[in-house]
Amino acid sequence: MERISAACRRAGRGDDEVTLVAVSKSVPLARLRLAVEAGLHILGENRVQEATAKVAGLPDIEWHLVGHLQSNKAGRAIELFSVIQSVDSLALAHRLDRLTAASTAWHGRRLPVYLEVNVDADPGKAGFAPDALARELDDILALRNLEVRGLMTVGRLVERAEEARPTFVRLRQLADRLRAGRPELGAGLSMGMSDDFEVAVEEGSTVVRVGRAIFGERPVVAESRSGTSPRPGG
Ligand SMILES: *Cc1c(COP(=O)(O)O)cnc(C)c1O
Repeated sequence: MERISAACRRAGRGDDEVTLVAVSKSVPLARLRLAVEAGLHILGENRVQEATAKVAGLPDIEWHLVGHLQSNKAGRAIELFSVIQSVDSLALAHRLDRLTAASTAWHGRRLPVYLEVNVDADPGKAGFAPDALARELDDILALRNLEVRGLMTVGRLVERAEEARPTFVRLRQLADRLRAGRPELGAGLSMGMSDDFEVAVEEGSTVVRVGRAIFGERPVVAESRSGTSPRPGG
């Protein structure tokens, strides 16, 4: 939190402009209870299956889905999560809209989502290509049961945080372009992870998704940034 505040100050932003989502994949429930006691109140998971028992064990905090959602798990996902950060296709947006309309849990409320953008055109990564998003955005914004809070991206694995900056600048510029004439598109920018969240905050991030910097390294088997290239040199 101090590091987020310091990055906000450098950028002339208030630290209430940035929300910390603690990404708790691979972290057992007992440790998550301690994290919540220590003051974290928004947790992020990247798999519906892993989240199920954790959400049941900590039902009163806000859970965000940050990983790719298979369409056959979308119904389950909206029962577990308060926010879906990883909407990465028009088909998934339509499906979530229909499921939310039919859900008793969501009755009368819109499902908050972010649209994931593959800013760097990384072939192994999920997300809308920027030009596809520009074409499909009006369809998505017309869905009455979704509240599109903004855009989300997963940066490339880089050696130094500074190298991630162009990705964050591109997401912010894309969002500015897309929002012109589309007030329904929320101003949220979910960007920045353990290795680069400070740079992301300097570039306008409103939501940082931080796992390892809080909980420590994950066991190698549970690592699933599928499709990204290995860390340089290792
Ligand atoms: C795992 C994950 C994070 C957190 O990554 P860290 O490097 O542990 O901070 C953030 N966003 C997504 C989509 C993730 O899958």
